[in-house]
Amino acid sequence: MEIDENLFYDYERLLQRLYEKVPKPASSGERFELPKFQLHYVGNQTIVRNFREVADRLRREPEMLQRYILRELATAGNYDQNGGILTINTKISSSTLTQILERFVANYLICPTCGRPDTRIIKRGKTWILKCDACGAEQPVKPF
Ligand SMILES: [Zn+2]
Repeated sequence: MEIDENLFYDYERLLQRLYEKVPKPASSGERFELPKFQLHYVGNQTIVRNFREVADRLRREPEMLQRYILRELATAGNYDQNGGILTINTKISSSTLTQILERFVANYLICPTCGRPDTRIIKRGKTWILKCDACGAEQPVKPF
């Protein structure tokens, strides 16, 4: 049987074109950029003006992020859904909040297998799973 040279050539060329169109995987040197909270203080309260934006950037429910932060601070607060603003009932420095956010990102956002932030938290009963959309890995995480 004869091989159709033209067909083979076209196939190779098609493959090449496909490869050119497929976006290249992000290099491992690419770092996740931590969003920054915008804070101001009213009396003894800390107001996080861009709380919903930060949660959106992390692709996490603001309510989940709120619960984590208030628990870490062992204080009370209130998330205003309409304004997307978190009010914390005590004065918290920007660096303290950044550290808490870094811990949240390390434990509940970054995939431990591939290091990418394209993850979701799936709740199965009392178990929480960090599921990575980039590599498919599943990692149990501590519920809070
Ligand atoms: Zn992954």
